[in-house]
Amino acid sequence: MGFAVSDELLGTVVPIVVYWIYSGIYMCLGSFDKYRLHSKTDEEEKNLISKRTVVEGVLFQQFLQAAAAILLFTITGGQNEASPPQPSSFVILARQFLTAMLVMDTWQYFLHRYFHENKFLYRHLHSRHHRLVVPYAFGALYNHPLEGLLLDTVGGALSFMLSGMSPRTSIFFFSFATIKTVDDHCGLMLPGNPLHIFFRNNSAYHDVHHQLYGSKYNFSQPFFIMWDKIMGTYMPYSLEKRAEGGLEARPTKEFKED
Ligand SMILES: [Zn+2]
Ligand SMILES: [Zn+2]
Repeated sequence: MGFAVSDELLGTVVPIVVYWIYSGIYMCLGSFDKYRLHSKTDEEEKNLISKRTVVEGVLFQQFLQAAAAILLFTITGGQNEASPPQPSSFVILARQFLTAMLVMDTWQYFLHRYFHENKFLYRHLHSRHHRLVVPYAFGALYNHPLEGLLLDTVGGALSFMLSGMSPRTSIFFFSFATIKTVDDHCGLMLPGNPLHIFFRNNSAYHDVHHQLYGSKYNFSQPFFIMWDKIMGTYMPYSLEKRAEGGLEARPTKEFKED
């Protein structure tokens, strides 16, 4: 039992460590100007908050989310003697991972879209994330703390429960989801990024959503673009070279005004 608890704890703490290591790597790569989706000047001029505020905001949110998760484990852990066993079969692990990805995507798509459509929720919660018009890696989880709890903590708990994965598998799943979210905000389209081979939902795709014109499109996150396609909120784009160097995700469809 003590062992299982430590796996659950790791599933909470390891993704936070992964977040800062992975975004730290991107900070070092930030000088690859020719793969940047926006210039550094745009990053400074268009973003409505300082990097210091972002770091403090993310740390505070991670602290709250970790506390909420640990509280949840403590409450449910006592009654739940039999946590699912660690499967040895690759097929079972792959099925659990895929299920968890689909659950998380479904939860996040509809909640994220609702955060845009409900003016009150947008103004008081989700607009905080959109203060970063030019996203960068460690801004990925810069959200209102309540949004973080609803979108990430509840979404994570649902993915964990419905996929039937063991706490040990969840360490890897939540770390992977964290890497994917950071990657989608990194602001770079580096050639050979292995995540871009498997996922069409990438930094350029999410960049369209962060632009003022794109806020009614490309809600899908963090893994697949499926829900945007099904629900008609998909905005295709082409990756063009910017005149001053670097890249740009340029929408290729007319925007609907309402
Ligand atoms: Zn949004
Ligand atoms: Zn974002």
